[in-house]
Amino acid sequence: MNSLKYIALNLLMPLLISLVFLLLIMNGAKIPGIIFSLTPYIFYAVSAMILWVSWEFNRNRFIFIIIPLIIMHIGFQYLSAQRATDLFLYSSLLYPLHIILFLFLKERGLFSIWGIFKIVFFVFEIAIVLYFVFYPSAALKELLEVKIFAISFYPLKDVTAIIGILTVLIMGAVVVFNRYLMYNSTFLVIIITFYMGLFFLKTPHANEISLLAISVIIFALLIRESYRLAFYDELTSMPGRRALVEDMAKLGRKYSLAMIDIDFFKKFNDTYGHDTGDEVLKMVASKLVGVGGDGKAYRYGGEEFVILFPSKEVDESFVHVDALRQKIATSPFIVRNKKSSKTIYINISSGIVQNSQKDKDPFAAMKRADNALYKAKEAGRNQVIKG
Ligand code: GH3
Ligand code: MG
Ligand code: MG
Repeated sequence: MNSLKYIALNLLMPLLISLVFLLLIMNGAKIPGIIFSLTPYIFYAVSAMILWVSWEFNRNRFIFIIIPLIIMHIGFQYLSAQRATDLFLYSSLLYPLHIILFLFLKERGLFSIWGIFKIVFFVFEIAIVLYFVFYPSAALKELLEVKIFAISFYPLKDVTAIIGILTVLIMGAVVVFNRYLMYNSTFLVIIITFYMGLFFLKTPHANEISLLAISVIIFALLIRESYRLAFYDELTSMPGRRALVEDMAKLGRKYSLAMIDIDFFKKFNDTYGHDTGDEVLKMVASKLVGVGGDGKAYRYGGEEFVILFPSKEVDESFVHVDALRQKIATSPFIVRNKKSSKTIYINISSGIVQNSQKDKDPFAAMKRADNALYKAKEAGRNQVIKG
């Protein structure tokens, strides 16, 4: 389960964007018309940027998510009233399900077998919707317009309302329990924004603006995603070396720094396999991330980590690092293979220093911490030594 704090932080950005556009709709009467006449062009421009960036970054899911929006936008703008209403009905039913599906499908190359399968499915989906828009089926519409509730969600049909509630509940649960919080929280807000746009259909520009809001939310997600790619470690999801170097440049006059290395990790890898080794790295990382004393942990490389303690004396930081060492040493790690399972314990060693006048930069302090780490290894491992 994700902590409430992280859920709130991740929801904040997409919600703020959505809210800005909501305010725009609510105050439509006071806003110069030129702004609204520009929205379609801004929407197409943002969509084009999304297509380009997701292609460059190999984040194909966004291509599948933005194209239906472009089709809806064009459809609402240029189709006859009757056809636009039908497009409205079908897309209000399918789009939220569509984006949940594509959120959960793994990112693979577009031209791999999986990618081609996705493309075929996608084209099929679009073709079906367009077919029923241009060749309306009275039977299908009657089925979709069936009355279920005593109250009306007009202009949404009851079936649409059910799908809406269902998808919001599913995404809500996913946000709480699944660890890809950045993506999930954004998609939850997208679904809500999408339904808001549909629900306020009668308010001038509401639908167009909601589509624009969604495209801006997706673009913001892509920017955050590229930041994450650059600064966060893929395996452990903790900040990586690049983030460490950036943060080291921001340190003040006093700080302390710990180098941490897992003991006998090579032997562990050789005995239990590389995959289990990866699991151990993740377990250790999850403990390091929770370090006290305002410390921040980074994966320096391999099975080596660094913790920075801005404006902390070494004696104070020592207490926090030693507490981590103890916590890791006493956390059972269960190795499972096909038949049996075995409980083992992981140890870490650490060298910790406070910066001194003689260090010309934080890298010099890091070198001293590395020497102290070497001493901890020499002294028998599973210990923290001050340098
Ligand atoms: P010491 O107690 O002296 O630190 O011994 P050690 O075996 O931990 O030290 P060494 O530096 O020789 O071994 C580090 C090993 O970490 C070698 C490499 O196979 C493994 N390793 C590095 N990165 C990864 C990774 O991302 N995943 C896995 N599974 N293993 C990794
Ligand atoms: Mg090592
Ligand atoms: Mg090691």
